Amino acid sequence: MEKIEIKFIRYVKIDTESSETSKTYPSTAKQLDLARLLKKELIELGVKDVIMDEYGLVYAHLDGEKDLPTIGLIAHMDTAPTIRGGNYEPRVVTNYAGNDIKLNATYTLSPKQFPHLLDLKGKTLIVTDGDHLLGGDDKAGVAIIMSIVEYYINHPSIKHCPIAVCFTPDEEIGGGPLHFDVKKMHADYAYTLDGGPSWDINYENFNASSAVVSIKGVGIHPGSAKGIMVNASLLAMEFNAQLDPDAIPAKTEGYQGFNHLCEIKGDIETCEMGYIIRDHDEKKLHAKEKEFIRIGQELQKKYPTSEVKVTIIPSYKNMRNYFDKDKTAINAITKAYDKVGIKYTFSAIRGGTDGATITYMGLPCPNIGNGDRCCHGRYEHVVVEEMYQVFDVVKALLEQ
Ligand SMILES: [Zn+2]
Repeated sequence: MEKIEIKFIRYVKIDTESSETSKTYPSTAKQLDLARLLKKELIELGVKDVIMDEYGLVYAHLDGEKDLPTIGLIAHMDTAPTIRGGNYEPRVVTNYAGNDIKLNATYTLSPKQFPHLLDLKGKTLIVTDGDHLLGGDDKAGVAIIMSIVEYYINHPSIKHCPIAVCFTPDEEIGGGPLHFDVKKMHADYAYTLDGGPSWDINYENFNASSAVVSIKGVGIHPGSAKGIMVNASLLAMEFNAQLDPDAIPAKTEGYQGFNHLCEIKGDIETCEMGYIIRDHDEKKLHAKEKEFIRIGQELQKKYPTSEVKVTIIPSYKNMRNYFDKDKTAINAITKAYDKVGIKYTFSAIRGGTDGATITYMGLPCPNIGNGDRCCHGRYEHVVVEEMYQVFDVVKALLEQ
């Protein structure tokens, strides 16, 4: 069997950066280069049921024991549009000593900045050249899933669940599940293999909405403005000052939610602020939304000649709401970790995940780690041994 890291590096070298500003799907045509390669490799492995649909999603199915559930494995092909990826040779650091790794003349991956590196002593790391991201998010997931398929094709006597595979584009710009077809996938439950340590399971994510605060002020010559001018930008600052100053991304972690001012543009006449609102607890999310509306109404009353408008736009929901009622997928994966002898952890994602949307589309889909760290930037690195651990866990899951 081809080594997982060999597959991984092959996929990393293909640039699949998605784009937030594109109007096409997938957002960048280059993602299809990887989609086509995966389709070709699956067919060459001997998988009979392989489809690449008109949106660039690649589906594949492997038959298994008829009385066992069909288990889905999902990974995304694109990389984050934060920094470029692909078209370079990532570096393999064997038997990591816990030291500084010089990525290039300017950038160093150091345990001083990233203390978790000290726990990775003795491991094999794959790192960047300092100018690109690695794309372990989520090509580590892609490589592990491709290895699983290859393994069962090469070992036809090993009994396993029917397997449904899907590789999606545009996850990083929130478009992963946009054209995901639950029927084409036809799995009983599924897992995304996306980001983080090999032992981490995620079935909670934020509930999310956004708020647009639009303010119309009253403009007049500042020399004769007394009692008349309402400066829209100052009003915006007054609005923001009434929000909880501790409920911002830079001061929160774990289960603490936040309001995040993403953009502000304004002058005296008009000012608009765009916020995202996040909380794992749906009630707390709604309380935060109500606070936006309350502040808006209060300022409207205080400045009757101005116009203060608050619009709340719901975004995505915490998939925990589903898994509180049906733990089948969670129990199956924890059993697999137990079987392999890896102590697993649960952590709540401080963001969204394709799996949450897919869960609400009718296919329960928690996430498990893929061995990647520090994603979306030049410091990203993958722990090779952890990719193999995830491989073992998935194998145990499929041979339940
Ligand atoms: Zn990802």
